[in-house]
Amino acid sequence: MKIVGFRTQEGLRLGVIEGDRVIDLQAVDPSVPNDLAAVLSQHNGDLEPIGDAKLRPKDTKIPIVKLGDGQAMLIYATAVLGSGRDHAKWQSTHGVGYRYYPILKAGNKSLDPLDPNVPYCESHMQSTSTEEEEVMVLSEDCETCQKFAAQYKVESVKASNDPTRIVLEFETDGSLSAKAVLLATLDILGKRFSELATQAAGLA
Ligand SMILES: [Zn+2]
Repeated sequence: MKIVGFRTQEGLRLGVIEGDRVIDLQAVDPSVPNDLAAVLSQHNGDLEPIGDAKLRPKDTKIPIVKLGDGQAMLIYATAVLGSGRDHAKWQSTHGVGYRYYPILKAGNKSLDPLDPNVPYCESHMQSTSTEEEEVMVLSEDCETCQKFAAQYKVESVKASNDPTRIVLEFETDGSLSAKAVLLATLDILGKRFSELATQAAGLA
């Protein structure tokens, strides 16, 4: 689909090229903004998606272009779906990492280090041990450690890791939400494992 901006007596209009004619989108779709030049001169968040509201940009703060009087934008847009396995341009996920779930005790009290209410210090309370608890002295110069010390009335913690639980962390480039990426990933993995199971079942 080719989308064009074109000038008329009523100002800048948005249209779709069909064959050798241009269909005036504003005339057929009342949801298309009338003051198109003003919209296009701002941020992508100001663009009104035509049709499905799901097509609204995820990141609304990206400037597109500043248009002067009498200027218009000509846009040819084609959306192609793909996965990062085929090409890096579809890679929406970055900084993927995983680690064992940290175990933390203040005195004899077991805490969940990833609970937002626990002032967990990644620098001074994170052990590499999976076998035995490591006693780690809280830093006097560290704000988080001192907050922890005041909250639980301790000067040290006992820390280790639970190798049976994995914390997976990643971020996205903003094109998709983290939840959407995770759900799509699980869907892809589910299909791949089911293919593998089918092939395994076919073995003699
Ligand atoms: Zn600290």
